Amino acid sequence: MTFDYDLFVIGGGSGGVRAARTAAATGAKVGLAEEYRMGGTCVIRGCVPKKLMVFASSFSEMFEDARSYGWDLTDGPFHWPHFSEKLNSELDRLEGIYRKLLDGSNVAIFDGRASLKDPHTVALSTGEEITAKHILVATGGRPVVPETPGAELGITSNEIFQLKEMPKSILIIGGGYIASEFAGILNGLGVKVTQFYRGAQILRGFDDEARGLVAEGMRAKGIDLHLGTNIVEMRAATEADLSGDHSHGVPMEGGVPAQLPSKAAGHGIWVKATNGTEKVYDQVMFATGRAPNTSGIGLEEAGVEIGRRGEIVVDDYSQTRVPSIYAIGDVTNRVQLTPVAIREGMAFVETVFKGNPTPVDHHLIPSAVFTQPELGTVGMTEEEAREIEPVEIYCTSFKPMNHAFAGRDDRVLMKLVVSKETRKVLGCHIVADHAGEMIQLAGIAVKMGATKEDFDRTVAVHPTMAEELVTMKEPMRTA
Ligand code: FAD
Repeated sequence: MTFDYDLFVIGGGSGGVRAARTAAATGAKVGLAEEYRMGGTCVIRGCVPKKLMVFASSFSEMFEDARSYGWDLTDGPFHWPHFSEKLNSELDRLEGIYRKLLDGSNVAIFDGRASLKDPHTVALSTGEEITAKHILVATGGRPVVPETPGAELGITSNEIFQLKEMPKSILIIGGGYIASEFAGILNGLGVKVTQFYRGAQILRGFDDEARGLVAEGMRAKGIDLHLGTNIVEMRAATEADLSGDHSHGVPMEGGVPAQLPSKAAGHGIWVKATNGTEKVYDQVMFATGRAPNTSGIGLEEAGVEIGRRGEIVVDDYSQTRVPSIYAIGDVTNRVQLTPVAIREGMAFVETVFKGNPTPVDHHLIPSAVFTQPELGTVGMTEEEAREIEPVEIYCTSFKPMNHAFAGRDDRVLMKLVVSKETRKVLGCHIVADHAGEMIQLAGIAVKMGATKEDFDRTVAVHPTMAEELVTMKEPMRTA
C-alpha cells in the first residue's frame, strides 16, 4: 500500500515540530497540521511568554535593591501595553522561526485542525484527506476550569498573556507551578494578588522544605496566600458590591471596599470563598490543572486507548495500541515539560525512522519553578527517599550576600538527599535566585550517579550561593 506521507504529525508544538523535523532529516516525507499557532503551548502561551513576564516582574525588586546599592533611581509604574506589544511581536517572530525551520526541513505544513479517520488516514478541517504510514499525535493539553457557579467569568493561563490591561487585583485559584508562578509575576508587576489553594501547601510533589520556603517567600513579597481554601461561587460584581454595601459582605477599609476593582477594567468579579469571605476582584484566574487534548479527534474510533485522565496510553516507545499511531508530549500525560516532549519526539524518530528502538528515559528530570523565590529540583524529595531507604539530609538555609546587603530578608535553601548505603545524591533541591540555572548543572552530577563525596571533592566557587552544595559537612538529620 502506498501512502501520501511516511509520517503525518498532528500538532505543531514542542514535541510535534521536533519530531517532524528530525524525521524529515532522515529522508522521510513528512506533513504536519497545526490548528492554532506554530510553536504550541510553550512558545505561544506557556514557557516563553511566562519567562518574559517573570523577567518583567523582577524589576520592581531590582529598583528597590539598586537604591540600597547607592543608585539614585525613581521608578514609575509598569506599562503593560508597552510590554504586551513587544511580547506579541516577539511571539510572532518565534512563530515565524518555527515555520521557517519546518519549511527548511521540507515538512509540508497544513494550517487546520486534524482528526483521525482510520489508522492511516487524517481528515483536515480544510476538507483534505491525507494518508500516512505513521501518524504521530502531539496535540498537547489545555487548562481545565472547575464547575463552580460563575467560573466562566474567570480566565486561565491561555488568556493572561492577551489581557488588554493589567488588573488592579486578581484572585488566582490553584497551588501548582502555573498558579504560583503567576502569583509572583503579577505581584511583581504591581497587581494585588490573592491565591487560594484547597490543599495544605502549594507545589504538591516537590520537597516539603522547599515548598515551605517558597510559600513563605511569596507571602513576604506581598502575596495573600490562603491554604485549605477554595471558591464556592462567583458572579459579576453589582453596584452594591462596588459601593461597599455591607449586606453583600464586601470587606471595608476606611469606608471603601478593601479590593475595589479598577473601574477602567469595566468588570469586577464577586467571589465567595470556603473561608467565609466575600470579596470583589478585577480578575479571577484558574490554574486548576490541565487535560490532554484527546476529544473529538477520532482517537477512540481508530482504536487508540484513552486512559482515566483522558490521556493517550502509550508504551515505552510512545506507540499506542494501534501500531501505526504514536503519541508524544502532554497528550500522553507522562511528564508535562517541553524538553520531555522534545525528547519523546526524538526517541520516536530514532525508533521508527532510524531502526534503533529507543525508550524515553523519564528518570531524574531536572526542572525549575519560576516562582519568586525560584525553585530548582532534581531527583527524589526527602519524603519520597526516606520511604525507600535510609537517607542523610544535608541542608542549609541562609541570607545570600546580595539580599543581605540590600536589606532583604529573603533566604535561600540548598538541600541534598543522600543514600546512607550507596552515598549517592538521590535528590537536590534549591530555592534561590537562578535556582533553575543551578539545577541544570547539579542535574548532570545527579544523573551521573554522583555521591556526596564526589560533591565534597569538588572545590567551591567563591563567593556564590551554590558553593554551599559542596561545603555541607554534617548531615542535618538522618531519616
Ligand atoms: P503543545 O506545545 O501544547 O502543542 C500542541 C499543539 O497541537 C498546539 O499548538 C495545538 O494548537 C495543536 N493541536 C491540538 N489539537 C490539534 C488538532 N486536532 N489538529 C491540529 N493541531 C492541534 N514546560 C517547561 O518545560 N518549562 C516551563 O517553564 C513551562 N511553563 C509553562 C507555563 C504554562 C503557563 C503552561 C501552560 C505550560 C508550561 N510548560 C512548561 C509546559 C509546556 O508548555 C508543555 O509541556 C509543552 O508545550 C508540551 O508540548 P507538546 O508538543 O506536547 O504540546
